[in-house]
Amino acid sequence: MEFPAKLKQLVHHPQNVAILSHRNPDGDAIGSSLAMRHYLEQHGHTVHVLFPSEYPEEFEVMPGAEDILIWDIHTEECKHVLARKNVFFYLDFNALNRIDKMGDYIRDLPGVRILLDHHLYPDPIADYTYSEPESSSTCELVYRFITGIGDGQKINPTVGKCIFTGLVTDTGSFRHATNPRVYRIAADLVERGVDDSAVQDMIFNSQKEKNLRLLGHCLSNRFEYYPEYRTALIWLSKKDYEEFNIQRGDAEGIVNYLLTMKDVRLGAFIHNQPTVVKLSLRSKGDFDVQDICKKHFNGGGHKNAAGAYSHDSLKATIQKFKDLLPQYKEALLKNN
Ligand code: 5GP
Ligand code: MN
Repeated sequence: MEFPAKLKQLVHHPQNVAILSHRNPDGDAIGSSLAMRHYLEQHGHTVHVLFPSEYPEEFEVMPGAEDILIWDIHTEECKHVLARKNVFFYLDFNALNRIDKMGDYIRDLPGVRILLDHHLYPDPIADYTYSEPESSSTCELVYRFITGIGDGQKINPTVGKCIFTGLVTDTGSFRHATNPRVYRIAADLVERGVDDSAVQDMIFNSQKEKNLRLLGHCLSNRFEYYPEYRTALIWLSKKDYEEFNIQRGDAEGIVNYLLTMKDVRLGAFIHNQPTVVKLSLRSKGDFDVQDICKKHFNGGGHKNAAGAYSHDSLKATIQKFKDLLPQYKEALLKNN
């Protein structure tokens, strides 16, 4: 990472900063945003964190989560706050459509934009772009941003906890998308006082009864396996959403169970959220789900974890997905 003098100057002198991250914020979106906030505040900046939609309940205990502004809920306040900002951090997304209407609103506002992200193919939307698809997480990039700019000593236990959260969520607890840096950063954060077990508990041991019952339902009644394509699918209908009272974040992580099957290379979770059909694809090895999401569903993400939204019916979306499998058969059956 290189830091032009102008950027260093900006970061080291108080500004009015907005930190933005993507719709359906996950641990990396929340962790990177709050880490950046707690770092910047040490330099005297006025900072607001804004998301297009709500974050999962388990992250409510993150330091500063209570101050996050949600466009869907606090639209007028978000507009008011954003209109007064002169610096915008874009964290964990790479195209303005990932922040929905907030993207349209800020598109033409004056101000400096700084992007830190690890999704493939960033749009040219920032003055300073730190885009590294080979990085584990945006939290890894936030760590490297802070240390690279010479402020490693400002990574206190609060900043560290937020960074650790994104490392854990985006690597599935250090199981994928890792690199030697991730382990060094994790070790450094623990040395700086981060309680790693507490972070793991917050993320993985915070389920409610209904989450386990929903998982049981998915695995018993909504699970389909196509061994000839090494593919497995879980789907959920609108009715399931109502019956299980599925709220923000409740369906998070279900797709990962599909990859725990030895022979599965492609896992798909297709669910009818109240307003839209959402696809989450996961893969093992070199099989690229980002390509499928981008080409066929106007979505995106990473090689092994990608998503998209569909405005077709649930049935039509599932059918479209299944109809794609024959053309990917050769790639799915490869052992790479
Ligand atoms: P998830 O399936 O957990 O929603 O998302 C997996 C990955 O794909 C995440 O990194 C997420 O940011 C990305 N992703 C999910 N949905 C979309 C989408 O509609 N468009 C793009 N470009 N990326 C997405
Ligand atoms: Mn991420």
